[in-house]
Amino acid sequence: MAEKMQAMVLTKLAPIETRPLKLMSIDKPTIKGRMELILEIEACGVCRSNLHLIEGDWKKYGAPSSLPVIPGHEVVGVVKKLGDGVKKVKAGDRVGIQPLFSSCLQCDYCTSGRENLCESAEITGETVQGGYAEYISALEEFVTPIPDNFDSAHAAPLFCPGITAYKAVKASEPAAGKRVGIFGIGGVGHLAIQIAKIYGARVLATSRTRKHIDLSKKVGADNAIAYQDSDVQFLKNLTEEEGLLDSAIVFAPSDRVIDVAIRSVKKAGIVVLAVRGKVADFPTFEEKIIKGSVIGTRKDMADLVKMASSPGLQVIIEKHRLAEANEVLGRLKKSEVEARAVLIP
Ligand SMILES: [Zn+2]
Ligand SMILES: [Zn+2]
Repeated sequence: MAEKMQAMVLTKLAPIETRPLKLMSIDKPTIKGRMELILEIEACGVCRSNLHLIEGDWKKYGAPSSLPVIPGHEVVGVVKKLGDGVKKVKAGDRVGIQPLFSSCLQCDYCTSGRENLCESAEITGETVQGGYAEYISALEEFVTPIPDNFDSAHAAPLFCPGITAYKAVKASEPAAGKRVGIFGIGGVGHLAIQIAKIYGARVLATSRTRKHIDLSKKVGADNAIAYQDSDVQFLKNLTEEEGLLDSAIVFAPSDRVIDVAIRSVKKAGIVVLAVRGKVADFPTFEEKIIKGSVIGTRKDMADLVKMASSPGLQVIIEKHRLAEANEVLGRLKKSEVEARAVLIP
């Protein structure tokens, strides 16, 4: 008989208030391929994407690809079993899995260091089983080792908010003397502020809630301006306090915030969108540049883990039990989580 594990399983897409994730005892994953690993999970971050997936917002994008599914895509665990072709990791190593579970490694994107764009990518917790569980399978080529100075609960958020922030901040071309605005502060934004600071930029943070304005200051934003309901008031405050920005990065899933971010940058400035949303009015004659950004590559992941341990990133977390996933996602929906909630099986 197969060995069992506990997992929070999604069998039906539904609002989080109806507690759609059920704690179940299911078969543990087993090694099926030569390059596979089985990890005993030590921590899995709770992402807003998980909420979109569970509530059916992303059905139109094909996620999840099937049900039942175990959500969760920022996972840290210890290697317990490995296929006989695995060379780079050994039993007992601590590694992380990011949303990009695997890619084909053969297409133009994959062979040019842009495997996050691969058409046949598998996404952790969406097209393959994710990390709201005690065990998970992974592939040698797509895991990243965790340095000893990072405990698993603090390392887990590096694997989605961290890499998302890192890639988007790089796309904003931060440098000393540049003003970068971060729109939307939380799991991703609080890391993006710190990464942009490491590049030497002046960082302006903005969010709707007082809690997230305070968080921005705590992690080193040079200025934080609340974005309430008036775009006009926000833009007035911004121009008075900072002047227009060189670049803006949007992590808040709101068409209105995207619009305000575009209006917050100088002519020829850069706007990085790391969320799905609509660009209502593209100011062609201002020569602004709008870039999309999605998670990151294996190299981005390794570079970020290095950056996170030295000079160091302050990853702010709160810990919860696996069985509390519905409640935690409910709080995330209401913007009650300060930075990142992490499930500990
Ligand atoms: Zn995520
Ligand atoms: Zn590919």
